[in-house]
Amino acid sequence: MRVHRATLLQFVLPLLVLQLSACYRPQVVVGPDPPAVLAGAPAVAWPAVQGLRLHVFNTGTNRVSSLLVGSPAPWRPVPAFVIEHPGKGLVVFDCGLGPEIAREGGAALHPVTRLLFETDSPPGSDLPSQMRESSMLPADVSTVILSHLHFDHVGGADAFRRATFVVGLGEREAGTSRMNGFEPRHTSWIDDGAWRDIDFSRAAPYATFDHGVDLFGDGSITLIAGGGHTQGGLAALVNLPGGPVLLAGDLVVHFDWLESNDVQRIVGSPERAADVRNRVRRLAALAPTLVIIPGHDLAGLPSGRGDLVVHRSALEAGRPAAN
Ligand SMILES: [Zn+2]
Repeated sequence: MRVHRATLLQFVLPLLVLQLSACYRPQVVVGPDPPAVLAGAPAVAWPAVQGLRLHVFNTGTNRVSSLLVGSPAPWRPVPAFVIEHPGKGLVVFDCGLGPEIAREGGAALHPVTRLLFETDSPPGSDLPSQMRESSMLPADVSTVILSHLHFDHVGGADAFRRATFVVGLGEREAGTSRMNGFEPRHTSWIDDGAWRDIDFSRAAPYATFDHGVDLFGDGSITLIAGGGHTQGGLAALVNLPGGPVLLAGDLVVHFDWLESNDVQRIVGSPERAADVRNRVRRLAALAPTLVIIPGHDLAGLPSGRGDLVVHRSALEAGRPAAN
């Protein structure tokens, strides 16, 4: 037994780290040119939906393990969002890190995920706890939109017992294993009937994107097909009264990602990831008032808007509580 353990430590683990670190070399993909005009939204200004309000929270921080990249990577925030909808009540977009991260730290992650990421979440920063602090009850959430099913986007999903869970078609199949950063224990309790899988394949083009689905049929939230980071990834364009906001999920991991052609190998389909990134860039150029909130970047959030409430945890985002 002792021999086996020594073999594992001396040979297998270094090989695994070497193989995983290969995943983090730069991978430059220029990708195809996106369309030059907007589809489905003829004017650059979208019709705003009165009564919509977006809350921005931060549930903790992640960074790529220095074991892999050789030098300390920046800590990135792990946001989660609540939309107050005039007809649908509370709608959540991504749930952030779960309370088990505050309790157990990185030990809560699958051993392979633990090799890839460091993660931190102060007690009480999971989304349901922060909602309760802000007088919003998790039981009142009607819809939870999950950009994808990685561990840092589904934590806290367990609290939304009355909700319909919305994902891109194919994402549920991909998310059944804890390998590759998925965290099925937060979603495995959800009955089949409580899922709504969005099939983008027949949906019309929207803005600069190849497919968009009007979630409630009222123009308030349009879901946009992703698919580069994980198979069924999606983003949401929210038509707030003060102007549209793109909740990008990990279609745009952070602004460095958006500005670079490096898709950083943390994608399932590099060509698709680059295609979607280019479409977001084109949209930003066509609609300068659009606010983009990436999956792991809270820089440049607007202030002083009644329809976009930035909570304290989001303002303080960017480094672990211990530092
Ligand atoms: Zn993520």
